[in-house]
Amino acid sequence: MTTIETPRLVVPDLPTDLFVGGSWVSAASGRRFDVENPATGEIIATVADAGAGDALEALRVAASTQAAWAATSPRSRSEILYRAYELITARADEFATVMTTEMGKPYPEARGEVAYGAEFFRWFAEEAVRIGGDHFVTPDGNNRVVVRHRPVGPCVLVTPWNFPLAMGTRKIGPAIAAGCTMVFKPAELTPLTSLLLADVLREAGLPDGVLNVVTTTDPGDVVGAWMSSGLARKVSFTGSTAVGKLLLHQASDTVMRTSMELGGNAPFIVCDDADLNTALDAVMVAKMRNTGQACTAANRIFVHRGVIDEFAELLTRRMSALRVGDGMVEGTDVGPLVERKAVDKVAELVDDAVSRGATVLCGGTRLDGPGHFYPPTVLRDVRPDSALMSAEIFGPVAALIPFDGDGDEADDAVVELANATPAGLVGYVCSRDAERLDAISSGLAVGMVGVNTGLVSNPAAPFGGIKESGLGREGGRLGIEEFLDVTYTSTPIRRRR
Ligand code: NAP
Ligand code: MG
Repeated sequence: MTTIETPRLVVPDLPTDLFVGGSWVSAASGRRFDVENPATGEIIATVADAGAGDALEALRVAASTQAAWAATSPRSRSEILYRAYELITARADEFATVMTTEMGKPYPEARGEVAYGAEFFRWFAEEAVRIGGDHFVTPDGNNRVVVRHRPVGPCVLVTPWNFPLAMGTRKIGPAIAAGCTMVFKPAELTPLTSLLLADVLREAGLPDGVLNVVTTTDPGDVVGAWMSSGLARKVSFTGSTAVGKLLLHQASDTVMRTSMELGGNAPFIVCDDADLNTALDAVMVAKMRNTGQACTAANRIFVHRGVIDEFAELLTRRMSALRVGDGMVEGTDVGPLVERKAVDKVAELVDDAVSRGATVLCGGTRLDGPGHFYPPTVLRDVRPDSALMSAEIFGPVAALIPFDGDGDEADDAVVELANATPAGLVGYVCSRDAERLDAISSGLAVGMVGVNTGLVSNPAAPFGGIKESGLGREGGRLGIEEFLDVTYTSTPIRRRR
């Protein structure tokens, strides 16, 4: 490990209170909670710990701001988003430092997320002024129909810790563009990035009460209060499938609109005709981005038996060369996992796979503290009954599974293996044959496929899953529709005599 020194959070005046109605306020109870740097175990801030009462107050403010906000011009909403995009970009170093320090991703990756996260604001700045509608005469010629879009109303936004900026901007951007007000609960482990984001939006001219940010150690109470209040019309959630299902149940009580970005279990397929360097570049990104803590992470890597020896050797060489350490230290490739429990879970999954017959090619045992580190690990010949085949690993562990057969037969077999999961977020396939790539990518039951690449995310593309990986899409042309209701008026056409 290369942890050299303990970085301090170098951002001055970082907000740590609740953001309600444009003001920073403490929790009514006065309670606060600690935010830990997972690379050092050091406490870097204490943040207001809201309860259900604080949450409801924030939602009342959002609800009472809704009508005025919906009446603003699309251009003014667009300009706020564009200014926020510019401010985030100008303050990229601050955002990246906060993210690395509160959740561990290496600083260069955090800079990448700042660019990606800010881009959602630029994209939705452009979408805000393109909210169209429709107009037609009914087939019988008797009526003129005008189809319009209107904001769904106050929204509940809930995000995970793994992409603290981008998971927020991907929801806040389209909500602002559409004219919705919001209550936003970031993850307990990473509240600071979201509070800084609220501050930037205020500076960009977002009116008071449009965005309200509530941090808490009691997500069930806070979000539950919002869901049962009858004041919110929509919930947009990114996180685990288990919590997503709970929110879907709660949303049914008041028939709220829902968008769900839930867990994945991505297959990564290496065909026997793949260019191995391309496949290795792709798998390193799909596996190691965010130290493996991504819903899009390659969870099951299926490699054709004809190339698995060479692929495993080259992958092991690349994985063992990665430098593990504090993400603020230059030269670090792999940061810590987000918390101790995460290391426990990864260690358990690896031990289980090994006890069922997998071979460890590198890594495979947790590293000593301080900080929550697990080394880059390659497992070969992972058996189908291993727990990590159905659970998200969420760590730097590449699980290789061989598959057999020739031509179409191999392709069909691997697609069947890949689809044998309730998840359907993303898949990856590497081959040099265009027809084969087409057959496999259309056979995969997922929302997104990376073809000879390990990265599919882009603000201009409709990100999302099928099956138990979610409902709705974020980004792209569809992203704003999640925050718009469709209505129409029908007017009789007076005929000329
Ligand atoms: P999580 O436990 O579901 O947490 C996500 C958010 O839900 C957090 O803000 C969490 O608050 C909150 N939450 C927890 N329990 C809740 C409850 N009872 N009611 C309402 N909200 C509740 O997920 P995670 O472990 O942080 O994140 C990892 C998961 O997110 C993985 O499954 C990953 O695949 C998924 N993910 C999906 C996407 C996608 O786009 N499909 C993107 C990124 C991540 P606390 O922080 O206080 O627990
Ligand atoms: Mg932390």
